[in-house]
Amino acid sequence: MSKNYDVIIAGCGAAGLYAAINLPSELNILILCKRDLPLCNSSLAQGGIAGVYNSPGDNIQYHQNDTLIAGSFKNNVEAVHTLVSEAAQDIEHIIKLGVEFDKNPDGTYHRTLEGGHSHHRIFHHADATGKEITSTLLENVQQLSNVTIMENTMMCSVKQTKTGYSALLKLADDSYETCNCHFMIMATGGIGRVYQFTTNSAIATGDGITFAYEMGAKIKNLSYVQFHPTAFNNRATRECFLISEAVRGEGAYLLNCHKERFMHNYDERLELAPRDVVSHAIILES
Ligand SMILES: Cc1cc2nc3c(=O)[nH]c(=O)nc-3n(C[C@H](O)[C@H](O)[C@H](O)COP(=O)(O)OP(=O)(O)OC[C@H]3O[C@@H](n4cnc5c(N)ncnc54)[C@H](O)[C@@H]3O)c2cc1C
Repeated sequence: MSKNYDVIIAGCGAAGLYAAINLPSELNILILCKRDLPLCNSSLAQGGIAGVYNSPGDNIQYHQNDTLIAGSFKNNVEAVHTLVSEAAQDIEHIIKLGVEFDKNPDGTYHRTLEGGHSHHRIFHHADATGKEITSTLLENVQQLSNVTIMENTMMCSVKQTKTGYSALLKLADDSYETCNCHFMIMATGGIGRVYQFTTNSAIATGDGITFAYEMGAKIKNLSYVQFHPTAFNNRATRECFLISEAVRGEGAYLLNCHKERFMHNYDERLELAPRDVVSHAIILES
């Protein structure tokens, strides 16, 4: 037997949860999460969330320029503009939903610095910002009577129908079910797990990209994957614990095997050059 929804959101990370909060409350929404709820890249995010919000001395033009420089001007300018100009209202919105960012003794928000940013504009919750954001968003979504969350439920395939989409789901008890909807949001996260070593969660296998491709979407720029330059190598597993860039933002140096700093040989922004530049320099040093 199949079930019908107005919207199915595939993915229960920050993107999927925030989409559910922002959709009209009269819609009947299903959110899918293929593993346990906390297992997603959003809850791993440490450093914080960039945005110009109540930030004297900073403005969205600086944020936009920094983003374009970090993207070697290959960015979609319209998308960058949306990102930087909507950041303030989204930061304010999630604060109202209950997200707590660290504050200075005078009550203003503490903002740290990360690579590529010319100003201190990273709002954070200690070094567990993603966990704070996802757990708060989840608490809010769980109070919405129009939203159902199915945990340990994997979307295996999707096809277009005359009225929307039909999704085949593998449920927690290994049985299968079909769900139909008028609209579908793919919020299944990234593709980090295609690499041998990664800081990404086990769920980051690009499922949404595959489904979209199978339904005829044109996929581009798959090689534009951002690597975290610094991670803890435990020599035992593929999974590497991220050593956040915010550590360099607060003054940490990178040393080569001779215990010498080397970033000055590659970029005047030193340890806070954009991540692709730092990653490249580390590879050349090793
Ligand atoms: C270690 C680490 C640190 C980071 N630090 C920062 C930071 O400080 N600041 C920052 O801005 N960004 C940071 N990022 C990047 C950021 O976390 C991600 O860009 C963002 O969280 C992606 O959110 P998302 O909701 O799109 O995906 P995710 O949070 O990865 O969520 C994907 C969801 O999709 C579900 N899913 C996937 N496939 C299926 C399927 N077939 N069926 C059903 N459900 C499915 C998963 O179960 C999961 O719930 C970091 C990333 C990592 C890995």
